[in-house]
Amino acid sequence: MNTSILVLGAGMVGTCTALHLQQRGFDVTLVDRQSPGQETSMGNAGLIQREAVEPYAFPRELGFLWDVARGNGAQVNWHARGLWQMAGSLLSYFQHSHPIRHELATQAYSRLIALSTVEHEPLILAASAQDLVAREGFRFVFRTTQAFDKAVQRAEDLHARFGVRSQNESTDQLAQAEPALRKRMTGAVHWLDSWSVNDPGALVARYAQLFMARNGRVMTGDASSLRAQGKGWLVHTTDGPVQAQQAVLALGPWADGLIRTLDYRFPLFIKRGYHQHYTAPARVRLPLLDAERGYALAPMQRGLRLTTGAEFACIDASPTPVQLTKAEAMARELIDLGQPLSEPPWLGARPCTADMLPVMGPAPRHPGLWFNFGHAHHGFTLGPVAGRLLAEMLNGESPCVDPSPYAPQRFKQ
Ligand SMILES: Cc1cc2nc3c(=O)[nH]c(=O)nc-3n(C[C@H](O)[C@H](O)[C@H](O)COP(=O)(O)OP(=O)(O)OC[C@H]3O[C@@H](n4cnc5c(N)ncnc54)[C@H](O)[C@@H]3O)c2cc1C
Repeated sequence: MNTSILVLGAGMVGTCTALHLQQRGFDVTLVDRQSPGQETSMGNAGLIQREAVEPYAFPRELGFLWDVARGNGAQVNWHARGLWQMAGSLLSYFQHSHPIRHELATQAYSRLIALSTVEHEPLILAASAQDLVAREGFRFVFRTTQAFDKAVQRAEDLHARFGVRSQNESTDQLAQAEPALRKRMTGAVHWLDSWSVNDPGALVARYAQLFMARNGRVMTGDASSLRAQGKGWLVHTTDGPVQAQQAVLALGPWADGLIRTLDYRFPLFIKRGYHQHYTAPARVRLPLLDAERGYALAPMQRGLRLTTGAEFACIDASPTPVQLTKAEAMARELIDLGQPLSEPPWLGARPCTADMLPVMGPAPRHPGLWFNFGHAHHGFTLGPVAGRLLAEMLNGESPCVDPSPYAPQRFKQ
């Protein structure tokens, strides 16, 4: 009989993990409290970021930090209680962001990112999801010459070191490429190898349909009911208890809550983020990041989606969408946003780790339990490669990349 496996969490990471395990002949049940792709993997900017070879470091510029402390700008917001709760992890994040340590993290991160589009491609084809995906890249746009020049240098460096392709665009070239822009920007870096998805939740749902079409089970249940049972694991679902020999935790920003009940204390934290859709009578063709202001605009099926930067707050704290208000005013300088759709702003959370690397591998003290979370700013990008790597480890295959930098054991207990 095939080994049975529970995958807990049906975001991009869990759904892709389920698909890759199923492909290797395991008997997989995917469990979530909602239908697949309803949380972080739905509300993001929809970018499959082949250019994102460097993980986001803790900013070190004093001027920027002073602005953040005073609540200026739209890039970062914070709640005192959230900072207090995450203080240990954030201090460790700051230490890991030292340029030498960040470079080490980049080496490990870039190996995953290099496989991001390559691993999405077969799933997009098998799930008949081509209609959701554009393969034309996206832009960082710049307001000042100083920031643009710096970005051009960085793009050249990323090309030399990691083969990331981009094209610099002048004020006129950008205006021609994006006629909806009403402000003349200094220039843009157009990342050519990245893709964009016009309904990120729908892509996860299509991947989940593919899993079901291949006889995978998707069930509704609460991961917090997970218990060791005999030599395996048991979780309660609306259809009754489900038992399996192994279990994978892919709970994104909720992973910390569950692993704490198993007595793991990893340096995890979250960066919350908001989105809002606008009617935008004339939309940008491709997504863009207003790089000096820290928000993104992405054309979606529902409307033009504005997504915000990082908010340091507890996962269950009430929404405080001040960044959205500020970013909306800044975005209106660039484009006619029209009206916001009549829906409350969406709030989600990026699942982050202090060393900026995801947690992928066997749980240190629980045989048959596996972790796959902490993909931070790029879980939508990394889902398929994360799923493949976890499945290869669980199946005892030689893995597509060296998994040691992502091993849960790296966190001392
Ligand atoms: C504003 C914003 C913009 C972003 N933009 C991008 C982008 O453009 N590109 C990119 O690559 N990444 C982006 N990200 C990051 C990306 O969205 C996340 O890294 C990714 O979605 C994480 O996927 P996941 O599957 O780990 O988590 P999730 O998608 O959150 O999935 C976790 C699942 O676990 C389930 N769950 C939780 N608790 C329980 C429980 N107790 N019982 C059962 N089920 C449970 C949830 O319902 C959910 O379905 C962005 C994030 C934000 C907030």
